[in-house]
Amino acid sequence: MSDTTPHERGLRETGSFTTTQEGLPVPTNADAHSLSVGADGPIVLHDSYVVEKLAAFDRERVPERVVHAKGAGAFGELEITEDVSQYTKAAVFQPGTKTPMLARFSTVAGEQGSPDTWRDPRGFALKFYTTEGNLDIVGNNTPIFFVRDGIKFPDFIHSQKRLPGSGMRDNTMQWDFWTQSPESAHQVTYLMGPRGIPKDYRHMNGYGSHTYQWSNEAGERFWVKYHFISDQGTEGLTGPEAEEIAGKDADAHRRDLYESIEKGDFPSWTMYVQVMPYEDAKTYRFNPFDVTKTISKKDYPRIKVGKFTLNQNPLNYFAQIEQAAFSPSNTVPGVEISPDKMLMTRVFSYPDTHRHRIGANFADLPVNFPYRAEQNSYSQDGPMRYTFKHPNQPVYAPNTQGGPVAGAGPAVADNMRWESDGELLRTAATLHSEDDDFGQAGTLYREVFSDEEKAEAVENIAGHVGDVMDETIKEAAFQYWEKVDPELGRRVREAEARNSGSDAYGI
Ligand code: NDP
Repeated sequence: MSDTTPHERGLRETGSFTTTQEGLPVPTNADAHSLSVGADGPIVLHDSYVVEKLAAFDRERVPERVVHAKGAGAFGELEITEDVSQYTKAAVFQPGTKTPMLARFSTVAGEQGSPDTWRDPRGFALKFYTTEGNLDIVGNNTPIFFVRDGIKFPDFIHSQKRLPGSGMRDNTMQWDFWTQSPESAHQVTYLMGPRGIPKDYRHMNGYGSHTYQWSNEAGERFWVKYHFISDQGTEGLTGPEAEEIAGKDADAHRRDLYESIEKGDFPSWTMYVQVMPYEDAKTYRFNPFDVTKTISKKDYPRIKVGKFTLNQNPLNYFAQIEQAAFSPSNTVPGVEISPDKMLMTRVFSYPDTHRHRIGANFADLPVNFPYRAEQNSYSQDGPMRYTFKHPNQPVYAPNTQGGPVAGAGPAVADNMRWESDGELLRTAATLHSEDDDFGQAGTLYREVFSDEEKAEAVENIAGHVGDVMDETIKEAAFQYWEKVDPELGRRVREAEARNSGSDAYGI
């Protein structure tokens, strides 16, 4: 445990003279001139300063995230203002608790340097440095996702990224994937609607998206959905507004967040949960473990929990934001995952990509280290190991030498469970009555969008579909929207025909 926050840990004062990485004073002129044999002669290999400088430069990048590469982040604090102890025993969620935290917002498909205002969901990743270990809630600015099973995630992302030959993004493959994956309809409707491009990171909500499990001191279990509602309000950009900003300032959202915090205008989000009693999941009209669906607030209203505020910019973007490693597998006692197939694959993939991207000891870095909790892992060695335990501590378990004992800390076993049985199979079939792919997408269009927002969505979709080069895929896209809502489908077909100067029905 340490008193120094991740915001400051690792920060060193800069002195007055240049040194090598190992602290050796650098000679005069070494900033500008390599050591050479005579003024015009070759550079010598034993100029270890120039060798170190170039070698370090050659290694300045870690691999960018395969998804969510472009982002921005800040430190802050979560304060619990209400009492939800009847639902969870997690220390972080007890009344009055204040917990230091890190937030990282991002686009999904674009690479580092891509414009912040491209139409795309936004990552909404939170790390809470709790006294029981780090709790990460790694969601999006949408309450749903494109696919419900992580086995499709690589294919989905490939369709959103670039063609293998030309290296260009391509609407044809995007719509090919979406129309072949009808479970995407709800998220695509959200994406094409007024929240498809947030005005900035401060004016968007965050959702845990998946259902998680909470359990209280008595061992009672509940299913929860996290909602982080922006206190700045929810505002979006139109397509043309977003394109104009993208042309002028690719970093518009990163800049907005940084500058707001610099001038003391701290953004905040109010935290809510929807709570479903454990037994209700079996008979609820929607599968609560299908991330392409929301749980209706009419059935399970939101309950207020607290508020988080972002009040400190990173001191070093690379060390603290690029190297930040979030994972939905980071749960604390009283919080667990659910049998959501997309969540379960994320629980594998997130730590796995961090091991590849940052290194096996990514959790040793100040921004990732659970500095307010005990960290008594038996993992050891590996590249860049920084923290270590007393030399007499046993390095294996079980042992009789007084090493840490599994289960001796806060109880976690009683909340890592749900009941499940059945034969091994591969299917999306469930037992819930309203589990079709298009129902909630239609509700969003018909019941949530205003008339103005409906018209905007029609134009956004028609414009996007207009760039599809394959007529069969284009027709599949029209039929996809007809299934979401017949009127929407008709309007999209007509708008696209108007844009392209052809007849809407090909007659
Ligand atoms: P509600 O009427 O209780 O919820 C509708 C919600 O839609 C609002 O509370 C708001 O969520 C969100 N919303 C408002 N405007 C937009 C917009 N332009 N684009 C996207 N979302 C918007 O009904 P239900 O809970 O029964 O949900 C009905 C539909 O609303 C769902 O099918 C889903 O598409 C959508 N929705 C549902 C959410 C949920 O968790 N239940 C969350 C967001 C959307 P907020 O208050 O979070 O801003």
